[in-house]
Amino acid sequence: MTMQPRTALVTGANRGLGLETCRQLAARGFRVILTSRNDDGAGAARRLADGGLTVEHRRLEVTDPASIATLEAWLRNERVSIDVLVNNAGIALDGFNPEVARRTVDVNFFGALQVTDGLIARVPDGGNVVMVSSGVGEVAGLAPPLRERFLAPGLTRDELVRLVGAFVRDVESGRHREAGWPSSAYRVSKVGMNALVRVLARELGPRKIRVNAVCPGWVRTDMGGKGASRSVEEGAASIVWAAALEDGPTGGFFRDGQPIPW
Ligand code: NDP
Repeated sequence: MTMQPRTALVTGANRGLGLETCRQLAARGFRVILTSRNDDGAGAARRLADGGLTVEHRRLEVTDPASIATLEAWLRNERVSIDVLVNNAGIALDGFNPEVARRTVDVNFFGALQVTDGLIARVPDGGNVVMVSSGVGEVAGLAPPLRERFLAPGLTRDELVRLVGAFVRDVESGRHREAGWPSSAYRVSKVGMNALVRVLARELGPRKIRVNAVCPGWVRTDMGGKGASRSVEEGAASIVWAAALEDGPTGGFFRDGQPIPW
């Protein structure tokens, strides 16, 4: 009897950590769906496929519900299950103002939430959802009252969505400092993503779907810059560890397979 290869879908995978995560997963025998919001991803997937790996490209703009729905419909029509969903797409914009705050949480937090909600019906029981987060998303960077709200064991998804939305409104009204937020939209988006992992792990527990956050470390990509301490191969290995789990933890935050603090 031949085993069907497991399928992985990675967002924001035309370059950087997403692309290398696709390469490593495919090298481990996964069928990989490399997604990107532009056509660069098609070329990237073709180059990996030319090297003998099972990789194909689909378009996905993580902030666009229509784009997510189109991908879901294709997966359904083709009867493709996604054993592993890697929410990797992310932005780190320069500066800090209401527009930066809104765009950053739209991609890094709401994008990951919408993609997971939109595709979760295609993830079989026992599958993996991985959120590519960051050590800078440690909740210690927030004032204690906010920290407690993000860490509340019974935090619901509605409360979390309201909390992240409140950050954007507080930046708009010029009172984010007073409310206890840091002046970093990237940091808040990843604090939100980490809290989302705990909420989704609870929601998806009955289906035995593992949901974990990973930090790839500081990695030499367009985002991390040339001076970063890690190669893209090392950073992606941290993601692939969580993506390839067949048994093990859910609702945790890991770097290199080791738990790290929220
Ligand atoms: P890059 O900037 O190199 O790549 C980011 C990727 O996300 C690109 O493919 C980009 O596509 C895609 N993307 C951005 N916005 C969207 C969107 N709306 N829809 C779909 N795709 C989108 O970053 P990295 O590879 O370094 O980062 C990948 C992840 O790792 C991010 O979530 C980041 O926060 C996280 N991370 C990175 C660290 C580092 O040191 N590099 C450290 C910790 C975490 P396009 O080419 O179209 O812009």
